[in-house]
Amino acid sequence: MVTKRDYYKVLGVKKDADQKRIKDTFRQLALKYHPDRNKEPGAEEKFKEIAEAYAVLSDPKKRKEYDNRGFAAVSGFSQEDLFSGINFDEIFGGGGFGFDVGGFGGGLFDSFFHRGRQREIRGEDIRVEIVVPLNKIATGGNEQINISHLRVCPDCKGSRSAPGTEPRTCTNCNGTGKLINTRREGNISYQQIRTCPVCMGKGHFIDNPCTTCGATGQIDNPETLTIKIPAGAEEGMVLRIPSHGRPSRETDGNPGDLLVIVRTAYDPRFERSGADLWHTKTIGLTDAVLGVEIEISTLEGTVTVSVPAGTQHNAVLRLGGKGLPHFGEESRGDIYLRMNIHIPEHLSDEEQRLYKQLRKLSTRKIDTP
Ligand SMILES: [Zn+2]
Ligand SMILES: [Zn+2]
Repeated sequence: MVTKRDYYKVLGVKKDADQKRIKDTFRQLALKYHPDRNKEPGAEEKFKEIAEAYAVLSDPKKRKEYDNRGFAAVSGFSQEDLFSGINFDEIFGGGGFGFDVGGFGGGLFDSFFHRGRQREIRGEDIRVEIVVPLNKIATGGNEQINISHLRVCPDCKGSRSAPGTEPRTCTNCNGTGKLINTRREGNISYQQIRTCPVCMGKGHFIDNPCTTCGATGQIDNPETLTIKIPAGAEEGMVLRIPSHGRPSRETDGNPGDLLVIVRTAYDPRFERSGADLWHTKTIGLTDAVLGVEIEISTLEGTVTVSVPAGTQHNAVLRLGGKGLPHFGEESRGDIYLRMNIHIPEHLSDEEQRLYKQLRKLSTRKIDTP
């Protein structure tokens, strides 16, 4: 998982930049880093980075999602998915840039992503969820997941026929699985296509079935994978593990990818809200009135917090920089403490006497809405 930079920073525009500004900036940067013109190492990666940022920020819906949820909002898309939405002709239309503009949307991207025939016969992606403890999200680190999915049988390589043997071609249909009858009436010929009744349309017979896979060509493959969780991984973020998805339906096709969706584990100490952590702390009435020092759990241990005198019910205290790291950045979120003030229910005679005395003493008017 490569660390990502904030899309606005990548393009060097402000958060409230309008579409024209975003497009103009992208055009300038794309011309500067286009691999046909810029042969410096890293130019291609830089180009992909700005194209990805542009793809998200130029799409109002994706941009809004990104503003709200950060990278988690777009992490389900591969760079390839994102790029395919950019209309390069419209942006660079008119030519005169000193390189083949047509290549922008076509050949260049195919070569970036090794696209072509492989694309069509790639297996499907698999999506799984991984529940990560809060502390692991804070520091980043490895988590193991067990997945079980089909993969191409290693013995018959998907041919379904025992190693060293070949499927036998059906002689009735010459391996096509179909029979074509042509009938002529005058100048018109009629073609009737039907499934070969001998091989039932398969075109061949497996005389020596592969025993490893039961002649299915695929085997169940339980696998334990170590997934690297980046520090500050956002709720719902998708980590793409290449080539661990379903096998291709064709013998020489590449498998799909495994998409691991990050979920934050329940933690009794905190509720997560982005990089911030919330905790509700109950204190007594007299402590709220007089102020008190309390011990609070943080990700690293405990800290002592001074609750000031006169703290109101539902007041929120902030412990700056004690939350989770912001994904891809150095800074951290905060811990928020919501104060829940417990009103005593069962008073002793002595307490009741003192509260009554307090009531008499109280000269301050309480504002009621
Ligand atoms: Zn097999
Ligand atoms: Zn046949």
